[in-house]
Amino acid sequence: MVLKVFNTLTRKKEVFKPMKGKEVKMFVCGPTVYDFSHLGHAKTYIQFDFIVRYLRYKGYKVFFLMNITDLDDKIIERAQKEGSTPEAIARRFEEEFYKDMEALGISSVSKYARATDYIKEIISQVERLMEKGYAYEIEDGIYFDLSKFKDYGKLSGRTTLEAEDAVSRIDESVNKRNKGDFCLWKRSKPNEPKWPSPWFEGRPGWHIEDTAITEAHFGPQYDIHGGARDLIFPHHEAEIAQMESISGKKPFVKYWLHTGFLTVEGRKMAKSLGNFVTIRDALKKYDAETLRIFFASSHYRSPIDYSEKSLEQAKINLEKLYNTLENLQEAKKRKELTKEEKDFKLFIKECKKKFESFMDDDFNTPKALSCLYELSSKTNALIDKQKGEINKKLSEEIAKTFRELGNIFGVLQKEIKKEEIPKEVQELLEKREEARKKKDWKLADELREKIKELGYKVEDTEEGPRVKKA
Ligand SMILES: [Zn+2]
Repeated sequence: MVLKVFNTLTRKKEVFKPMKGKEVKMFVCGPTVYDFSHLGHAKTYIQFDFIVRYLRYKGYKVFFLMNITDLDDKIIERAQKEGSTPEAIARRFEEEFYKDMEALGISSVSKYARATDYIKEIISQVERLMEKGYAYEIEDGIYFDLSKFKDYGKLSGRTTLEAEDAVSRIDESVNKRNKGDFCLWKRSKPNEPKWPSPWFEGRPGWHIEDTAITEAHFGPQYDIHGGARDLIFPHHEAEIAQMESISGKKPFVKYWLHTGFLTVEGRKMAKSLGNFVTIRDALKKYDAETLRIFFASSHYRSPIDYSEKSLEQAKINLEKLYNTLENLQEAKKRKELTKEEKDFKLFIKECKKKFESFMDDDFNTPKALSCLYELSSKTNALIDKQKGEINKKLSEEIAKTFRELGNIFGVLQKEIKKEEIPKEVQELLEKREEARKKKDWKLADELREKIKELGYKVEDTEEGPRVKKA
């Protein structure tokens, strides 16, 4: 099966072919560490986690690089407000970010790269842009001269700002040559962090961090660059301008992938709008697998509207899948294989194929997820029809399929624990069995009622009674 991805650069679905064999070099814009991350950020990180997990499932060797913006106006602002240092603020929220990523089960990132660890590489890039005439110096910094780069706008299809752009990061200076020129190296104000450079003591602009980091790890060209869609302009456009001007090689990145927004009643979830839920708070109510089902339930390029109702639905859907795993575990196993079970083996194969063909179609997670739901309801029906029995090997195969495909979304990885039945209930159950053997139905019913009062229900199966939490 051929994997196709939607490339923002060409606005088309393209066959995915890495620059070198099965090796994939991938970079996704990471956080600016000045506060806790919210669910809008989680959407991007989790959906790229799905993508990387699937690429690895398909046998690609993915190096997944993510930057940490640990120096920025917002960090400096917070430090001044709290009487702290930018470094202390950045280190604190970087740690909090890692905790969130771990709690969300995002284990696919190969390396996190802190911007301030790449100052030497950043200065080298600015120097090369100066030498080639793409950059100029004015009083407050070194700027990129957009009139020198004719391809500017090729990713976004525009050169002007729009409402959803990350406008807070545009550098305004009256002496810029062109309105859209962005800063590469800023002159530090007193009390701001600064590093020596060939020009003046300063600090890096935002866009140059990413190209310096990716050039250090990947060279001038690589396979996938991802991020949320509000980063397309000007951030990613600026990255293209920088790196293609420095290296003269095109394209800087072969495939550009962008995630849609998480919205709340139709508006983007954002810190500035105050309509956000932190990852931490969300995890107090829903476990990571529930959040993952929620984010897998819509395509990564589409927006998702956040509501308690849709998270509850995700929780129910996940429970259904786990119930099937539990049913499989509890079903009575036998050696023989019925005709129906033989057909079921074929169905599993088809199911996997369908799952993969949906994922191959630009990572269509909602459709792929629907294959798991189908497998779940068909499995339940099979066990039901066979009165709680199933072929042992088939049962193992179904469970393995759930675990394997579920792992691409980072779900269905928990152990199925046998329910702990309290001793009191256990004793009542034994007494009830004795009564039943003696055909004392009245006593048996009374005991069943007592068990019910304790919150448990008894199901009489062919293998004997089963107790479950009511
Ligand atoms: Zn970035």
